[in-house]
Amino acid sequence: MAPVVGLLERLNKGEKVVVAEGYLFNFEKRCYLKAGPYVPTVVLEHPDLVKQLHEEFVRAGSDVVLAFTYYGNRQKMNLIDRAQDLEELNRSALRIARKCADETGTLMAGNISNTNAYNPADPNNRENLKGIFKEQIQWAVEEGADFIVAETFMVFDEAMIALESIKEYGQGLPCVVTLALMHNPAEDGEERTVDGVKVTEAMKRLEASGADVIGLNCVRGPETTVGIMEKVKKSGVKAHLAAVPVPYRTNEKAPIFMLLKDPKTGKRVFPLNLDCFMCTTDDIFEFGRRCDEIGISYIGVCCGNTAHYTRTLCESIGRTPPASKYSPNMNLHCVFGDEDHTHKYRKEQSEKLQRQKE
Ligand SMILES: [Zn+2]
Repeated sequence: MAPVVGLLERLNKGEKVVVAEGYLFNFEKRCYLKAGPYVPTVVLEHPDLVKQLHEEFVRAGSDVVLAFTYYGNRQKMNLIDRAQDLEELNRSALRIARKCADETGTLMAGNISNTNAYNPADPNNRENLKGIFKEQIQWAVEEGADFIVAETFMVFDEAMIALESIKEYGQGLPCVVTLALMHNPAEDGEERTVDGVKVTEAMKRLEASGADVIGLNCVRGPETTVGIMEKVKKSGVKAHLAAVPVPYRTNEKAPIFMLLKDPKTGKRVFPLNLDCFMCTTDDIFEFGRRCDEIGISYIGVCCGNTAHYTRTLCESIGRTPPASKYSPNMNLHCVFGDEDHTHKYRKEQSEKLQRQKE
């Protein structure tokens, strides 16, 4: 197998990098993980299933095997009284991911995230958080991660502490830092982090502090992610840009999935009844096209992702991953046969991209 090209080499050459995420929701849906605490204990209890999902995502076109250590941090393990399993969980997740990446010629990423331990009123806040990040980063380095993903930060200050920790303990590995941008608009309408930093300003500061890839992940669907990333692009940042939305139809009124309300009952649907807002594969295809137009090169799908979304995202940028073998052929459908225009549209777009590449 040819040597695997690194994250930054790919992005610097103008290639896109597709990342499949969404492990937590995926395993919750399959009844191997508890909603509420959301701790990835499935890594210890069913490592074979974690390996399988990595393989499934790679087959669907993911360039990255993201080690399933999201919420596998000290604070979360304390919450479920399993602090003693912290290191084993992290190392196991990293080893499963490393093995899959080696077998498939993809990149393996270590993963740190928002901690729920952020408390600016505590004088030891910074030190506590750095301790939580440090051990996870060091395990990722020791288990051979190709880069580190730090994600889902609603508080800008916490993202900065995570970035600082990567710079200090990450042995120079490249890093992706993405914010989960809540709905907290300033007077001029620009969205801010929970601690009041406007998104364009936040991105500039992450870039200035050495993040290689910056952007948004989680909480927002494609529709309320892309516009913000376009604004970030226009603000003049030079770092590679990331967009990893959730596959739910958030909208102007409910820009984050926590605000979505069931049209039938009027009740909040997050996090257990989100299904009625699931994106279609056409939504994801359109998202991929928009990212291509704007110049967002690190793209993926977060909580709610399944292989068919990742496959669609890849196809939207002209790729045909192994899973495309089973992409729809509606021409052969008993009822919709040749009349399916959506299929035709996608096929035309893909063929156009292929021709451009040749
Ligand atoms: Zn997510």
